[in-house]
Amino acid sequence: MVKPKKSLGQHFLSDRRIARRIVEAVSPSGRDAIIEIGPGEGALTRQLLDDCGFLVCIEIDRELVERLRGSIEAKNLSVIEGDALQVNWGDIIEAAKRGWSEHVGEEHAGEDVGPVVRLVANLPYYISTPLIQILIRQPMVEMTLMLQREVVDRIIASPGGREYGYFSVLVQYYCEAQELFEVSPSAFRPPPKVKSAVIRLRKRATPIVSVQSEKSFFALVRAAFAQRRKTIHNNLKAAASALGFDSIAAEPFLKANIDPKRRAETLSIAEFAALHSALFE
Ligand code: SAM
Repeated sequence: MVKPKKSLGQHFLSDRRIARRIVEAVSPSGRDAIIEIGPGEGALTRQLLDDCGFLVCIEIDRELVERLRGSIEAKNLSVIEGDALQVNWGDIIEAAKRGWSEHVGEEHAGEDVGPVVRLVANLPYYISTPLIQILIRQPMVEMTLMLQREVVDRIIASPGGREYGYFSVLVQYYCEAQELFEVSPSAFRPPPKVKSAVIRLRKRATPIVSVQSEKSFFALVRAAFAQRRKTIHNNLKAAASALGFDSIAAEPFLKANIDPKRRAETLSIAEFAALHSALFE
């Protein structure tokens, strides 16, 4: 057993039933090219390998990379030493597809569809938010992630709640989010201080709303939530120059049928899109 490194967020899943439940939720098949981030000692890796077409693992810890390479002999596995925040995701997805084609492609010859690219991770909590911001933009069908309970709450939050914010809008814009189950700290070695939950993010074929520019849309949403106690109008006024305006009048709010005295946390994603279009188009 490896001594867990706190600095790398290492909490290894020691409860086999939970590992089984995660893999059952993923339900891997020969059609899948799966990418696993942070395989650690391989709690999920070994089970995923049994049924998927090809598996690419990205692990930052060299000691664990060497252990995995030395302990698992499988032709449908590639272990990459790297930092999931820094790797080129286009290259990783291509490597997963290529591995799938070389390994099981022949079995699917004649079918006109390639592999289904999916991602699985029991994520180190310290990188989960920045990493999710990268992952949701990648061409993958689905992600099954173990996250800190409160990050899951923020992702699935609806307007009106305390948890609803920029991150909820961002993730829900690209993905359908579904919480699967909660996991207690006792399922890990060592136990983390917080509860965890497993979530499924399914990439939408097209974002939930149509906006002319994602850049200015997310800048607007971020500015709207800057100070949660302020009205949306006051937050946007404070960010006017950063958003490219001299000032923000009440008119776009009227046009979008949104009371400027509302707070950002009460606006649905469709209302943010309407406000964005009234302001920028
Ligand atoms: N999947 C294993 C399990 O369920 O037991 C390990 C989970 S542990 C919470 C997180 C894993 O991610 C560790 O193996 C850690 O070394 C790895 N890790 C941490 N930071 C990483 C990064 N930036 N990129 C890739 N892997 C990372």
